[in-house]
Amino acid sequence: MYEVEEYIIPFKGLPLGSHSFEWSVGKDFFASYEMSEIDDANINVQATLVKHTQFLEVELQIAGQAEVQCDRCLDPLLVDIDTEVAMYVKFGETPGEEDDDENDVIILSHNDMELDMQHYIYEYVHLALPIKKVHGEGKCNKEMMARLEQYLVKA
Ligand SMILES: [Zn+2]
Repeated sequence: MYEVEEYIIPFKGLPLGSHSFEWSVGKDFFASYEMSEIDDANINVQATLVKHTQFLEVELQIAGQAEVQCDRCLDPLLVDIDTEVAMYVKFGETPGEEDDDENDVIILSHNDMELDMQHYIYEYVHLALPIKKVHGEGKCNKEMMARLEQYLVKA
C-alpha cells in the first residue's frame, strides 16, 4: 500500500510565498479507486503552492504515461499524459468546491492545516485522458478484431 500522506500539502506550517512539491503516481495509486480507467501509470506530478495571506494558489504539472484499455480491442493502450492545472484554495464557513470560469476553487475551513491532493490528482489525470482511447490504425489486437468482426452486423 502506498502512503496517503504522500499527496498532502501541509500549508499551515509554511511561510508565505512559493513552495514546490513532487509526487509520483503509479499502479497502486489508481488501484485504490474502483472506477479508475487507468490500470497502470508512470506519472510525475509537480505542484507549486503559492501561499498568500487569504488564499492559496496551487499549480499542477502532470506528465507521464498511463495504461488504459483500448476501446476497440480491449488490449492495454499506453497514452501520454501532459496537463497543467491551476487551483485556488479559499477559506470559508462552508467547505466545498466552486467553479469560476477556468479554475477549480476549493473552500477549506479556517481550521484546516493541510490540503489532500490525492483525489484532485486522480481527477485531473482522468480528465487528461483522450476521449477516444484506441490503438493506431492496424495496431489493435488482430485476434480480438477478427472475433469482433463475426459479431458486427454488416450495414
Ligand atoms: Zn486496440
